[in-house]
Amino acid sequence: MAKSDVLVIGSNMVDLITYIDRMPVEGETVAAPNFEMGCGGKGANQAVAAAKLGSKVSFVTMLGNDDFGKMQMQNYKSVGIDTSAIGVGNSNSGVAPIFVDPSSDNRIIIVKGANNELTPSVLDKYENTLKEAKIIVLQQEIPLETNYRAIELANKHDVPVLLNPAPANENLDIDYARRVDYFAPNETELSSLTKLPVENMDQIKLAAQKMVDLGVKNMIVTLGSKGVLWVNESHSELIGAMHVRATDTTGAGDSFIGSFAHYIAAGDAIDEAIRHANEYAGVTVTQKGTQKSYPSAEEFKSLKK
Ligand code: ATP
Repeated sequence: MAKSDVLVIGSNMVDLITYIDRMPVEGETVAAPNFEMGCGGKGANQAVAAAKLGSKVSFVTMLGNDDFGKMQMQNYKSVGIDTSAIGVGNSNSGVAPIFVDPSSDNRIIIVKGANNELTPSVLDKYENTLKEAKIIVLQQEIPLETNYRAIELANKHDVPVLLNPAPANENLDIDYARRVDYFAPNETELSSLTKLPVENMDQIKLAAQKMVDLGVKNMIVTLGSKGVLWVNESHSELIGAMHVRATDTTGAGDSFIGSFAHYIAAGDAIDEAIRHANEYAGVTVTQKGTQKSYPSAEEFKSLKK
């Protein structure tokens, strides 16, 4: 396997999006006007964002043993992701049936499928790849123990780690949150972890500070159109988002994380990387879709003008 700038360890899912007029009640069948399918999963989205920006990306994930798995593999190849650490499990692919009503409210079900087969022992096979990376990126749609093993291996080889604790998992061992370099929740995940309210900026700052007091090195809290709050032991700064007309914010968080990893691997300081990733994520919310709203480096250059 080639040396990677960004090593993403995480999930892949197929998004099955049904646009409904209304949800059926129990026992009822309704016809829906539209259906779309797309490649998703937090790990995959983040890997695709970094690859589209030009990072050399390796992705460690477990595909389902079905046609969806083949479709995902093709998608990663098409954006230049190194697929040599992608396995095929015994289960079906992870899928996310999503129901979107006319007011754009959505209901999402996640079936993790083969993502549950990405166990610590699978990761051990890739220790040599892992130690060559400039940054390792983790989320929480695979078993927590696998993330713990990734952090142990990264610490052993002095490789920086970015943990996006999404979806929130109250069982996350705080000791591992201390052992990563960048801890990047959104405000809801921050609230769930700290059990503190996050209804205004003062409360968000207090909650982020609580994590720093517990020993977390860099809190990078994404706040939608408000941007990102960066807090560490000596610094607290709100870095504003781009002013854009948002049409679809799905996958904005993943585009921020993937692009932030790209810019850190490229040598940016933390505040620079946040500014650049805010711009990248800001551009993605002006376009419909998740991965398909992520621009290449060239498209990004012209879109942010
Ligand atoms: P999702 O779960 O929808 O992917 P998230 O809650 O994880 O999103 P957000 O905090 O909503 O992530 O957004 C991540 C980043 O995307 C923000 O920090 C910002 O840079 C950018 N962003 C999101 N919404 C907007 C917006 N309306 N205008 C400008 N930038 C935005």
